[in-house]
Amino acid sequence: MINLELEKSRCLNCAHRPCSIEGCPLNNDIPDFIHAEGQNAMDIVYSKTVLPSICGRICPHYKQCQGSCVHGKIDNPLEIGMIEASIGDEAIATDYKIKTNIDNDLVEKHVAVIGGGPSGLTCAAFLARRGIKVTIYEKHNELGGLLVHGIPEFRLSKTTVEQTIKLILDLGIEVKLNQELGKDFTIDGLKLVHDAIYIAIGANEPVITMEGSNVYSANVLLEDKNFPDFTNKKVAISGGGNTAIDMARVAKRMGAEATVVYRRSEKQMPAEPREVDDASRDGVQFMLQTNILNFENNKLKCIKTELIKLEDDDRLSPVNIDGTEFEIDCDYLILANGSCPNKKIVNEFDLNKGGYISVNENLETSIENVFAGGDVIGTKATVAWASRNGRDAAEKIINKLKNN
Ligand code: SF4
Repeated sequence: MINLELEKSRCLNCAHRPCSIEGCPLNNDIPDFIHAEGQNAMDIVYSKTVLPSICGRICPHYKQCQGSCVHGKIDNPLEIGMIEASIGDEAIATDYKIKTNIDNDLVEKHVAVIGGGPSGLTCAAFLARRGIKVTIYEKHNELGGLLVHGIPEFRLSKTTVEQTIKLILDLGIEVKLNQELGKDFTIDGLKLVHDAIYIAIGANEPVITMEGSNVYSANVLLEDKNFPDFTNKKVAISGGGNTAIDMARVAKRMGAEATVVYRRSEKQMPAEPREVDDASRDGVQFMLQTNILNFENNKLKCIKTELIKLEDDDRLSPVNIDGTEFEIDCDYLILANGSCPNKKIVNEFDLNKGGYISVNENLETSIENVFAGGDVIGTKATVAWASRNGRDAAEKIINKLKNN
């Protein structure tokens, strides 16, 4: 158990603030909140983020703030994530009120935020705290996006998400649930009654690399929570990202023999090392440097790979090794090989090469006064970066509304 007071006392209050400036996607004022107490610490944290209890728990800190902490060169980086989460938890426990800075020029403005995940919630909060009327349109019957429909409960409790959202909604934000873009409303319709729109619908459509019976998408299963009965079943999960690891841990907890099949080595896995370690401890097995060839009649046919440096590629590429094919018994194959935006919805915008909504430096799309951020524009798939887009978009929207 880490003593947080002792941990805070290790902070050197570095003048060049690498944890904040180089490490944290949100540029949170880390040394300032470490050296503050109570209400002051909460005000400092909430000046840059509205998701401290969440980011403090699930961000890949070893790559971000903690990865930049100078203590990493001396002994161990500070546990910045835990400190941030503790301040967020204190805000929840004390029914903290997020500070506002109402601008009278903005109080008649009305902005629609489509998507109630981390990016949409952050944008909504940073707009509302300036006095703008905000309505969030969410396709599910609850807010949270991937925080509740992607990350399993054992990694992030639903209570923490709900309590975090409550502080945000206390800013006076209106919420319309069970409202899906393209089905229940359109961009043109929203434009008639809103001054600007922020789209943060994520990119949760599975990239399907194989079809067949007993083949599922991890994104869909984690979103809908409509799992097959995995009890005593052999389940293979294809992929090496956090979604693959989350899915494997969920299947394991449901009684499956879960195996992650990944074509590169553990070192190249996009998943966080901490999550991979936790999955191993849970009993999830790993078949690395292995490609799946097909899945038929409860047999998964695989082949081993070698990793080769190809020209113009900074990652090692997996290449099948002839003659190393093998089969294992398998009841279910779950694909976790990536995701993309819903094509039907994003097609009305100019798209970039990856099929994501294209935005300019102001996060504005090809449709005037419609902004977008988070996974739907192909931002690095982390909650902190999605949230950073939401905060930046709020600033850009405010600038535009004030100058119109
Ligand atoms: Fe404190 Fe580490 Fe940030 Fe320096 S880099 S201010 S020691 S948290």
